Amino acid sequence: MTPAGADRPGPEPRPGGALWSGYHSPQVDVAVRLNTNEAPEPPPPEFIAAVRKAVGDIALNRYPDRRASALRAAIAAQHGLGAEQVFCANGSNEVIQSLFLAYGGPGRSCALFEPTYALHSHIARLTSTAVVTGERDDGYLIDPAEVDRVLEAAAAHGDAGPAIVFLCSPNNPTGLVEPVSTIEAVLAAAPGLVVVDEAYVQFARSSVLGLVATHPHLVVLRTFSKTWSLAALRLGYALGAPDVIESLFSAALPYHLDAVKQAAGIVALGFTEEMDGRVARIVAERDRLLAGLGALGFAAIPSESNFILFSTGDHDAHRVWEDLVQRSVLVRDLTGWPRLAGHLRVTIGTAAENDAFLAALAQVIS
Ligand code: PMP
Repeated sequence: MTPAGADRPGPEPRPGGALWSGYHSPQVDVAVRLNTNEAPEPPPPEFIAAVRKAVGDIALNRYPDRRASALRAAIAAQHGLGAEQVFCANGSNEVIQSLFLAYGGPGRSCALFEPTYALHSHIARLTSTAVVTGERDDGYLIDPAEVDRVLEAAAAHGDAGPAIVFLCSPNNPTGLVEPVSTIEAVLAAAPGLVVVDEAYVQFARSSVLGLVATHPHLVVLRTFSKTWSLAALRLGYALGAPDVIESLFSAALPYHLDAVKQAAGIVALGFTEEMDGRVARIVAERDRLLAGLGALGFAAIPSESNFILFSTGDHDAHRVWEDLVQRSVLVRDLTGWPRLAGHLRVTIGTAAENDAFLAALAQVIS
């Protein structure tokens, strides 16, 4: 039997030549895993104890609160917003999917600027939303002239332009923060939603969350996967205007957010100080890793995130990646991504993991 949607365009080559299906980072069993921007430290034991207790109070025979009201209120309070401005889902990837289900689809388009997080365009294509691609400049930032060009190109797909403009700040995989002036320029020009994916914002010096109050078409995405050390929990959220949040609810499955996750998310928010401590340690390690890469002769981008993009220069990047795997160190191979031939991305790990990475890299190029 043919599955529904089988007639939709499937995986297709990226501009760089790799297949779309290649965006998944391989889950290889290695000693040092620095490929998916996870937090190197687990959450504190007190968090685990508190979650155990909270889970014990859940009536597992009942469906969870469909609106996740308590969790949304707790998240909203953290950001000084109202609960009606928060939508939670199973990781920010599912929030992105909900956005495309609600606002994208056949006859609509989204705009984004490569190189950026691959799931934005991937989910767009899965939902048959046309993707209009802009290019970042030589420093991997977005030139306002390119914004105008892309918005105009998207208008050819119908409506007045893209239904969604996707931005990512700090951007994955460059680690660079988009200047607020650029985001304001996009907000001024875009006819539809402007989504700023801030998955890594706690590692950066600035956020555009403050603009949500004055820009009802701005949606900011956050996740518990990185700074909160909870990638396994699968919890992310959108912050935006109440009518946008309601549209996301209309695209979500009933009871999409299980009760354990709702409870654990609330518990996590009581551990903000611990999270800040982890972030400070990662930022300190990031500077050390940047210096280490420089000392080995690699050109690396000063990142405002928990990863670093670097060029392997005269060394073949894919070969370097393979040789690192041989030494039980896994980083992200970006050689098939748009404009990133010759590049790898390394997640900031613990001090010991970073040392192991630098030592393995030094061996590989010697
Ligand atoms: N946005 C960006 C920019 C990311 O890098 C990631 C994870 N790699 C996500 C969203 C998805 O995170 P999650 O689904 O774990 O919340």
